[in-house]
Amino acid sequence: MNHNSSIGCSVAECKFHCKDDNYCTLDNIQVVKHSQKADTIECTDCGSFKIN
Ligand code: SF4
Repeated sequence: MNHNSSIGCSVAECKFHCKDDNYCTLDNIQVVKHSQKADTIECTDCGSFKIN
């Protein structure tokens, strides 16, 4: 499965996840924050996630 070597990802539930090794198959992703001010790692996420 072709993947983007610049985007490592361990979210196996995502339809864009490379099952062979832990990478994303998209050319680019949108990283988002879901609090007004991001001050912990939990405040950021992959905005390109789609359920498989
Ligand atoms: S879209 Fe986001 S969550 Fe899905 S495989 Fe790519 S980096 Fe991971």
